Amino acid sequence: MKLFNPVKLFIEHDCISNHASDLCVLGSRAFIVTGRSSASNGSLADVCSVLEAGGIPYAIFNAVEENPSVETCVQAAKESLAFQADFVIGIGGGSPLDAAKAVCVLASDAALDESCMYEKLPGITPLPLAAVPTTCGTGSEVTPNGVLTYHRFHTKSSMPYTVFTAIALVDGKYLAGAPESLLINTSVDALAHLIESYLSAKADSLNRMYSSYGLQLWGILKDTLFAREASEEEGLHITAAMAQQLMLTSTIGGLAISHTGTSLPHAMSYGLTYEKGIPHGKACGIFLAAYMEQYARRNPSDTEDVCFFLGFDSIEEFGQWITDHLGTVSITKAEAAAFAEGLAQNTGKLATFPFALEYADIQEMYTKSLKITE
Ligand code: NAP
Ligand code: ZN
Repeated sequence: MKLFNPVKLFIEHDCISNHASDLCVLGSRAFIVTGRSSASNGSLADVCSVLEAGGIPYAIFNAVEENPSVETCVQAAKESLAFQADFVIGIGGGSPLDAAKAVCVLASDAALDESCMYEKLPGITPLPLAAVPTTCGTGSEVTPNGVLTYHRFHTKSSMPYTVFTAIALVDGKYLAGAPESLLINTSVDALAHLIESYLSAKADSLNRMYSSYGLQLWGILKDTLFAREASEEEGLHITAAMAQQLMLTSTIGGLAISHTGTSLPHAMSYGLTYEKGIPHGKACGIFLAAYMEQYARRNPSDTEDVCFFLGFDSIEEFGQWITDHLGTVSITKAEAAAFAEGLAQNTGKLATFPFALEYADIQEMYTKSLKITE
């Protein structure tokens, strides 16, 4: 067993100003990587004011799209090199945070180009990275992975390098004003991380400290935050305390997968996001119940634990909750067949499931999770 996560992690109100010196010590010229608008929720202003007070010049790249492409990261890295930045700060959801990880690699040496994102090069020392999450799902601030869109392969995949952040500054106040759909989709992503980690072939009693605790936190959130009827129109009202709990649960999900990686629902989600534009958390969430059913046929006690931690009596009840909150996704029979074929060939991800799966089991996970049309 091994437990390793070298991120200096702070989760608290006014996190950035409280830990200004931990941020400023990372370098002398900062390159900020963020999305198009979300950092206007105060996170970017908080970072800039700390840098200004510390006398650290900075440049901002604010063009990271959802599910960031290799091409965007290459462009950002060019700007970082031109600015001669010696550290990077990612602000936003998982997309800007993952793009920032790629920039840390690409901007570490002016001789590197796009090809290094396709094939791992030895001897790369990424620039130091700080992360400020503004969504409550990916846990990217504590995971070593950066998930990018590879248009060349028509899908998403982890880049071939691991980049841990030097410092993660997590503050629930940046969730204020986030739309309900974003809160639900991203917290279901955190849920997927926790379940997939707990049920992973790499799960052990050390890393289950994270997944089991995170699942229990998630169960409490489900009963308080998400308890309202779907027909109510006024949206979610999150208090500052709830926002902090959402962020904590998300970061714990990240700590869990930083030890085990993700599993089949994530592998199944990537094609759905790429081909159908389904947001990441939703694309993972809709596969969770069918995946747990497969697992339960081979080891019911682990999935009973998961349901117990979450406060569900059964996988069926859990699956109904997911459908009520995420809705359904339709694809054609031909698309479902192509996705199943892709997963059957993904031996790396299949190895994260602790039991052998038949091709019919893989097909069943798709047919049970999606609405299949002709
Ligand atoms: P996201 O793609 O980063 O952001 C989704 C949308 O939400 C964007 O339009 C974004 O605006 C907006 N947004 C972000 N924070 C907001 C806020 N506080 N208020 C209002 N709007 C806000 O979403 P995400 O689900 O956090 O990240 C998904 C990505 O993370 C996927 O690419 C996924 O594969 C990856 N991921 C990575 C890991 C990992 O370990 N590295 C784990 C799981 C998922 P902007 O346009 O301004 O950004
Ligand atoms: Zn995820």
